Amino acid sequence: MDRAVGRRRGPAARTLRPAGLRGRPPHHPPRHLRRDPGACPGRGEPPAARHLPGGYPRPPGHRPSAPLPDPVRRGEGRRRPRRCGACASPGSRPAPPPTVAFEHDGQAREATAPLLVGADGRASMVREAAGIPLHQDAPHHWFAGLLVEDAHDWDPQLQAIGTEDDFGFLAFPQGDGKVRVYGGYPLDQARRFKGSDGPRRFLDAFALACSPKNAALVSGKPAGPLFAYVNADSWTDEPCAPGVVLIGDAAGWNDPIIGLGLSITYRDVRLVSDILKATDDWARVDFGAYAEERAERMRRLRFVGQITAAIDMEFGEAARARRRSLFERSAADPGLKAHAFAVMAGPESLPSELFTDAHRARVLEG
Ligand SMILES: Cc1cc2nc3c(=O)[nH]c(=O)nc-3n(C[C@H](O)[C@H](O)[C@H](O)COP(=O)(O)OP(=O)(O)OC[C@H]3O[C@@H](n4cnc5c(N)ncnc54)[C@H](O)[C@@H]3O)c2cc1C
Repeated sequence: MDRAVGRRRGPAARTLRPAGLRGRPPHHPPRHLRRDPGACPGRGEPPAARHLPGGYPRPPGHRPSAPLPDPVRRGEGRRRPRRCGACASPGSRPAPPPTVAFEHDGQAREATAPLLVGADGRASMVREAAGIPLHQDAPHHWFAGLLVEDAHDWDPQLQAIGTEDDFGFLAFPQGDGKVRVYGGYPLDQARRFKGSDGPRRFLDAFALACSPKNAALVSGKPAGPLFAYVNADSWTDEPCAPGVVLIGDAAGWNDPIIGLGLSITYRDVRLVSDILKATDDWARVDFGAYAEERAERMRRLRFVGQITAAIDMEFGEAARARRRSLFERSAADPGLKAHAFAVMAGPESLPSELFTDAHRARVLEG
């Protein structure tokens, strides 16, 4: 498909422009290094690297191969029907079939189907055509990502995260001297890495006293474009409308600081696929269980993203002192970081008390 415009039949029919984003897979090598001069008083490069053989620690009771306890699989979503009927329309009149118009080989074409799955990213024209509102959090910081090549001195088994001055970084090795790096910086620095030499200046920002190993990144070469985004989460109240269901970023996205975009998307695909496989009538599908699961999943992930952003992507002396305080307090009380297991094990694997203002205050305010 070279170019596509989507429209729905009926009075709300609109012609829309194409848009798109790139996806970045998460990468989880066995060793993890956290660099933060604020977290360890009196030393330049603390705390000591945390080496986690075999990957990340798992929360109690986590079984990696166990099926996730999602409401769709168990049919629990049906016990609490959603107020809005957009996602739950069994028995109702089928929606007019959605139509997608596109060009291929210079030819205008049109396709009609009982259901349109909108998987067209952040600027989803399907979402717009269906009139599904998108809500967005207030931005907290800028976040940019770049693929680096020829970083052969970077340990291919080591990923690292750190914050120093007005820059927070993350580095994830990809093998063969390639490392995917991310950097966060204050909202008032929108132009910091703009321009043709932006990728080079971005890499130079990784030269941080708290992480001397970053020299291997700085000596690497930018191997792709540098895109910067505000970190903000977004969400839809109902990721569906008659004849339409949204998945992935089209349905709302999570702050990339916790790197879960593709995991979210894959789970959306699984849940929607399971629902579709359970019925033959795709013109009247009940997506209520998916909508309900996704709303709570994204609420919890938004909560974790906000705490992570407050810890890793705030700058200045007060933020540094807070990182140091959390580092010290969590040594004695590891539960202060329990919310982070949502990233590796899924937010549904944790008790709901962890997603409350009380937990946030305990983590951020001590
Ligand atoms: C800075 C940054 C860093 C990130 N880092 C990570 C990370 O480390 N790990 C992670 O898991 N996630 C990460 N993400 C999030 C991740 O990229 C997304 O969540 C994920 O790509 C969403 O997948 P998607 O398929 O929903 O959307 P997309 O990947 O955006 O795919 C949508 C596709 O639809 C196509 N499209 C759109 N409109 C049309 C049209 N009209 N016709 C035809 N095609 C169309 C687009 O070209 C695109 O290929 C990051 C995001 C950002 C912004």
